Amino acid sequence: MASLMTEKINISSNTLSITNRCGSCNKKLGLLPFSCKCGGIYCALHRADATHNCKYDYQAENKKCLSTSMVKLAEKKIQVL
Ligand SMILES: [Zn+2]
Ligand SMILES: [Zn+2]
Repeated sequence: MASLMTEKINISSNTLSITNRCGSCNKKLGLLPFSCKCGGIYCALHRADATHNCKYDYQAENKKCLSTSMVKLAEKKIQVL
């Protein structure tokens, strides 16, 4: 009996350490935690960068995209004129 009890305790402590929690609401995540580009894991509600304090530098990425699209637009305008 005693050995069975210790085994149960070991199993529960293992599962506790494995359990993933949402970095925003601390909700227990099941088998499908959503990982973000910032390295955190979040629930379905907080997986979007806007719904958690995302540290990933999306602005730098957006600026790159914007500048390239602006150049394209400018090129088009020049062609039209
Ligand atoms: Zn969450
Ligand atoms: Zn993030």
